[in-house]
Amino acid sequence: MEKMKALVFKDVGRLVLEERCIPHVKEPDDVLLKVKNVGICGSDVKIIEGKHHFKPDTVLGHEFCGEVVEVGSHVHHVELGDRVAIDNNIRCGFCSFCRMGLTSQCVDIKTSALGVMRDGGYAEYCLVPEKQCFVLPDEIDDVLGTQVETLATVVNGMNTLLMLPYDYVMILGFGPIGYLFAQFAKNIAAKVAVTEIDPFRISVARQCGLTVWNPNEEDVVKNITEFTHGRKADIVIEATGNALWQALQCVTPGGKVLPFGMDSSIKTEIIPNEITRWATKILGLYLGQNTMVPSIRIYQENRLNMKPFFTKVIPLEEGLGAFDCLGLNLQDLTHHPKSAMKIVMKI
Ligand SMILES: [Zn+2]
Ligand SMILES: [Zn+2]
Repeated sequence: MEKMKALVFKDVGRLVLEERCIPHVKEPDDVLLKVKNVGICGSDVKIIEGKHHFKPDTVLGHEFCGEVVEVGSHVHHVELGDRVAIDNNIRCGFCSFCRMGLTSQCVDIKTSALGVMRDGGYAEYCLVPEKQCFVLPDEIDDVLGTQVETLATVVNGMNTLLMLPYDYVMILGFGPIGYLFAQFAKNIAAKVAVTEIDPFRISVARQCGLTVWNPNEEDVVKNITEFTHGRKADIVIEATGNALWQALQCVTPGGKVLPFGMDSSIKTEIIPNEITRWATKILGLYLGQNTMVPSIRIYQENRLNMKPFFTKVIPLEEGLGAFDCLGLNLQDLTHHPKSAMKIVMKI
């Protein structure tokens, strides 16, 4: 059997570059992709740390695009040679959530995600169901093509928030998700401020022309109050997973809080009466939902400044080193300052 190179998550703390058999089309709706590029996501870091659901001995990588090189007998919507972006979350299409349009809550969603529960894009080839493929237009290159699914989650957030031109927006956490929300807010809202603790990412925020505060060094509640002429933020996007309490302190009466960052180890105390008294709208949501096509259009029409987003593109063979740039020591799973926003591997 022909072999390919793959970065495989063996178990908590163990990511290994190894040779695997190239998969081939089995099901009638299977599509085999020659992977072009794959992004490294914060949730890949969490999988390696054992802080995200995982399956040992799985090829990681859920942010990828590739070229169609083999198709099953029932594949009709993509052709050999098509360049496609992937929605890694496979939705069954039959459960009541899928059938009522809330596909992010599909009962199967946690059991089948590409790059999490079944082999993903940290490899030369990847087998995907046809319905997960979205053909890319020429305006979107192979690096940007890795970030369609990432943007799709943020567009789901934007659909939920309904951001207005007179909104004051605050974004807690300036990782890739905070970055994308900040680009939208710059285009749409009256004013936007972001918070971040990592020096490298603070410098990227400044590069984007954003107001940025370090919550470990500054009183962000005082800052947002002054920034908004005493009102506080109409919208607070919590993109860290650990600062909902802070989001609730920074939002204006009647304002919206979007708890977007994910960290299942965090517990927090809230005062229910304050949410009632100040009419705060807490808007939970999960993943993208019917937002892959809108995300392709946003990139195609060049609506976001994506230049400072990509820190570097490296070969798959150097993938282990990328986690160090993302602040994770693979030897002992400790954290240190980051030196990257988004790293993409070219396969
Ligand atoms: Zn991701
Ligand atoms: Zn379903």
